[in-house]
Amino acid sequence: MQVATTVDGMRRLRSQAVGSVGFVPTMGYLHEGHLSLIRRARAENDVVIASIFVNPTQFGPTEDFEKYPRDPQRDLSLLQQERTDIVFMPSPVEMYPEGFATYIDVGGPTEVLEGAHRPGHFRGVATVVLKLFNIVQPTRAYFGQKDAQQLVVIRKMVDDLKLNVEVVPCPTVRETGGLAMSSRNVYLSPDERRAALILFRALSLAERLCRAGERDANKLRDRLHLLMAREPLASVDYISVAHPETLQELETIEVPALVSLAIRIGDTRLIDNFVVGEKRPSPVLAELGLAAR
Ligand code: AMP
Repeated sequence: MQVATTVDGMRRLRSQAVGSVGFVPTMGYLHEGHLSLIRRARAENDVVIASIFVNPTQFGPTEDFEKYPRDPQRDLSLLQQERTDIVFMPSPVEMYPEGFATYIDVGGPTEVLEGAHRPGHFRGVATVVLKLFNIVQPTRAYFGQKDAQQLVVIRKMVDDLKLNVEVVPCPTVRETGGLAMSSRNVYLSPDERRAALILFRALSLAERLCRAGERDANKLRDRLHLLMAREPLASVDYISVAHPETLQELETIEVPALVSLAIRIGDTRLIDNFVVGEKRPSPVLAELGLAAR
């Protein structure tokens, strides 16, 4: 496995790569969710490239950029175990040298949900992802459904700008009990970790209600708000029932619909989602014995 810390170094390694390139961009502090993307990229490409970069421009001024968990040595050894070929690990100043002034604003799907609650977040995401795509020149890029809106935004950018890369969505990997894996789960105390299961419970309830024929999106949102109100450690940023591509809130549920949540558990903000009304359950959930919800 080769590691590049500069743009020039990464470009040199890329120019020597032969065949298809699968790319997995991450912010590091890797867990099984990230590794599932690496494995998928490994299975589908000749060369696998991962990046580790905690991107300052996607964090708001009051967010956790400074304290975001980092452990590059452990990350590198996990990536090596998964037979990653190249890791791109630039510094913030390498990606944003003095005078950097070009940003990507994806319209439409960035204006709601995470975009509405985290101003500038997707501007930072789109800018860094486009820059990484330009440097890495991947054939395919792998993103987790865990960040459903991010996937929509990246796909929109790729389509609008006709970028020559295939975006591959990958299912959310969960811990036993259903909590979606996230680098931020490390912030949770044992009590908060128990309370955080409320996200999966709420999404499971949404799916059950949809299966039972509920089509009134407001009723569905109300039921999820009621459930959240019973968990003293949880406070709601948003509960959304939206169209999976436009992300516009629905009045009447047409399936598939994207049910997504942003919930604060203590000081930690967690997001999760289900696409409800899909014909087949996620194979990852089936593996965990969580498919028969
Ligand atoms: P991050 O390091 O949080 O920026 O995530 C890097 C990539 O891993 C993104 O495409 C995420 O959507 C994906 N990812 C994060 N958590 C999970 C998870 N639990 N299951 C699947 N993919 C994930």
